[in-house]
Amino acid sequence: MSAIDDLTGELARLPGIGRKTALRLAFHLLKAPSDDAQRLARAIVAVRERVRPCEVCGNLTEVTPCAICTSTRRDGTTVCVVEEASDIMAIERTGEYRGMYHVLGGRLSPLDGVGPSELNVEPLVRRVGGGVVQEVVLATNPSVEGEATAMYLRKLIGPLGVRVTRIARGLPVGGDLEYADGVTIAEALTHRREM
Ligand code: ZN
Repeated sequence: MSAIDDLTGELARLPGIGRKTALRLAFHLLKAPSDDAQRLARAIVAVRERVRPCEVCGNLTEVTPCAICTSTRRDGTTVCVVEEASDIMAIERTGEYRGMYHVLGGRLSPLDGVGPSELNVEPLVRRVGGGVVQEVVLATNPSVEGEATAMYLRKLIGPLGVRVTRIARGLPVGGDLEYADGVTIAEALTHRREM
């Protein structure tokens, strides 16, 4: 396999990149100054070497615990549960939420073999049971699986004696938090309801 085929194949495996775009990117990298391509290659290697999940919340970080978990200006009594670390970035962009986070690492999806043990559920239960947390905001995506995951967590966390809320609808059903605009996410958080 030629180097161009190799690169095109790798690029085509990225989300949202089809065969045609992969080919265009590969030729762009060949035509661009060598430094540009080297920088891109180094950035890819660096991100894989330096970034890892926060040991407390699962956020992607270069120092663990992450800056959110160690911040003294944030409210440690509220934990917002999200599917992926990228959801944290989306919520942080709104500037409306001052609590902590917990990344599940996905959502319940029995058909794909994803049960509670495949997700960061156990650490969440331990965290919530630790005595500091007073409210858990379930911010899984408004998809069928996201709702089912929220219902499951509600049943699991409810008996621990903390307030459990769900972000309000208004987010497009079936949509991803990650792609929602800041105003919509801020509204959904403000109008969260008891579960
Ligand atoms: Zn953290």
